[in-house]
Amino acid sequence: MPEIAGQDASHALAAARRVVVKIGSSLLVDTASGAVDAAWLDSMAGDIARLRAAGKSVIIVSSGAVALGRRRLGLSAGARLDEKQAAAAVGQSMLMQAWSATFAAHGIVAGQVLLTREDTERRRRWLNARATVEALLTLGVAPVVNENDTVATEEIRYGDNDRLAARTAQLARADLLVLLSDVDGLYTADPRRDPDARHIPYLADLTPEALASAEGPNASTGVGSGGMVTKLMAARIARSAGCSTLILSGVPRAPLTALEQGARATLIAAPGTPMTAYKQWIAGSLEPAGVLVVDDGAAVALARGNSLLASGVSEVQGGFDAGDCVRVVGPSGPLGVGLAAYAAADCRRIQGRNSREFEALLGWKGPGVAIHRDDLVLIP
Ligand code: GLU
Repeated sequence: MPEIAGQDASHALAAARRVVVKIGSSLLVDTASGAVDAAWLDSMAGDIARLRAAGKSVIIVSSGAVALGRRRLGLSAGARLDEKQAAAAVGQSMLMQAWSATFAAHGIVAGQVLLTREDTERRRRWLNARATVEALLTLGVAPVVNENDTVATEEIRYGDNDRLAARTAQLARADLLVLLSDVDGLYTADPRRDPDARHIPYLADLTPEALASAEGPNASTGVGSGGMVTKLMAARIARSAGCSTLILSGVPRAPLTALEQGARATLIAAPGTPMTAYKQWIAGSLEPAGVLVVDDGAAVALARGNSLLASGVSEVQGGFDAGDCVRVVGPSGPLGVGLAAYAAADCRRIQGRNSREFEALLGWKGPGVAIHRDDLVLIP
């Protein structure tokens, strides 16, 4: 994936390959009627359809479940947690109906993905969620992600969809996170109070000064559960995953078209790419829990950039779970580390065998490789 060059927000969008677009309740739900703002939603779907037509994968992170459900059930904004969760149960299906209908007009199928924090923090579940999102994108579906508010209680919540969107970007190895806000980015001071406030179009880094400015003058500029501070916190998560962040106003219809036509935004650039960040994480942060010993043929195939096939594995050492980090050792020494696609016991069942036999050997149909090349870091 190419690094996003330049400091221009519209160029960042044009250069991105995989984009996560986060849409908050305040944009999607019309405050006067409490219903989905269909005209706005339709304009957004049009923007997303155009990005897809340009060859980009797009994942939507959409709020609105609680707001829509609360209205339907006649609950007040100060409802109890269990009532909010009940509201989410009602509102989430209303939200998906709205997305499905609006995308249908563009010939796009929407797919609901409900995540809890554990899904992005526990590696096994994270790998499952990643595989599902990947399958949806391969099938041409537009994934519409939200937090599973009906079961996520206070202690275990992401809490705000800015953070959920950043974790989704990390999970999906997106190279751009678009946070639609009610302001057009970050300012040096509160633009509503200070006539000298300057708009910040570009940040190469999230310095303590930038974060401090969000805590001070920009703190109150966001509505919904996430203000500017949560947006910068989300940008920090994305940045560490090699994903740049764009903060722009979602108030006008077709906000991404508006961006292309010169609307202001703040671009927070990420160093490197999602793939380099991901591989650094595998090589640098995980303790190997086992070893896959591979034969000469596999060692050559790995050096050429291929995945590790089970047919090339001659021995499995240690006990590890699917998704755990393992060392890969060839006939002439260590080759690298990677995330095992199967647990140790299953690796032993499929070692030396062709992927066509996996289903008969395991009783279920899993990945066709022992370690996918994206999950593998070779010693240079
Ligand atoms: N997940 C919540 C909802 O759909 C919204 C959380 C947020 O907007 O930050 O209602």
